[in-house]
Amino acid sequence: SGKFFVGGNWKCNGTKDSISKLVSELNSATLESDVDVVVAPPFVYIDQVKNSLSDRIEISAQNCWIGKGGAFTGEISVEQLKDLGCKWVILGHSERRHIIGEDDQFIGKKAAYALNQGVGVIACIGELLEEREAGKTFDVCFQQMKAYADAVPSWDNIVIAYEPVWAIGTGKVATPAQAQEVHVAIRDWLSKNVSAEVASKTRIIYGGSVNGGNCAELAKQEDIDGFLVGGASLKGPEFATIINSVT
Ligand code: 13P
Repeated sequence: SGKFFVGGNWKCNGTKDSISKLVSELNSATLESDVDVVVAPPFVYIDQVKNSLSDRIEISAQNCWIGKGGAFTGEISVEQLKDLGCKWVILGHSERRHIIGEDDQFIGKKAAYALNQGVGVIACIGELLEEREAGKTFDVCFQQMKAYADAVPSWDNIVIAYEPVWAIGTGKVATPAQAQEVHVAIRDWLSKNVSAEVASKTRIIYGGSVNGGNCAELAKQEDIDGFLVGGASLKGPEFATIINSVT
């Protein structure tokens, strides 16, 4: 449902030189036209990327402050991201939930603020390995979904990224069936708790050890509407392969 969406989350990687090389690779890649493509560089390189990357690819931030800027040392406001040309922000990433300690309510506030400013949100959710093993995958994902639903003004500009934490950066990709099962459950949750229309039009993308070798099988799943890619998005040709896995 919706146009295939592929995001590259560069996380805390890169230098001016390595990013210049990656941008050149992306600019020279042939990309399927029917795919929304977004990259999320570290804040400090957003301007460099915006000024050198083809307009074919949109820019996302990896995080933002919860409200208007001001005396918040070290933070970056949504207004500043807009000023740099960012169309998107990734929120609720597991690394921010579990390493930095952001909670559902804090993430919900950020999502609402960004959307109210006209910036799209790539809203991440996903369970830990012990939660999956305890049979709590759906409970955890639904609770994270509810926090977004309680906070956001509209679902028009949200892409949901299902990223099981055990699959992130581990090389242990979810099987197509495992990912599809959770995507269906999320869509069903949206249908029951938001609306049938939002459920059918909201894109639900998968993240966690997606690479050039496993993307095609995942992309075939009915409810996988794209990918959020970490490590493999740092290699231009491999990221292009993932973008072009649209079916
Ligand atoms: P990897 O693709 O490196 O597993 O990271 C996934 C991710 O966290 C994207 O946001």
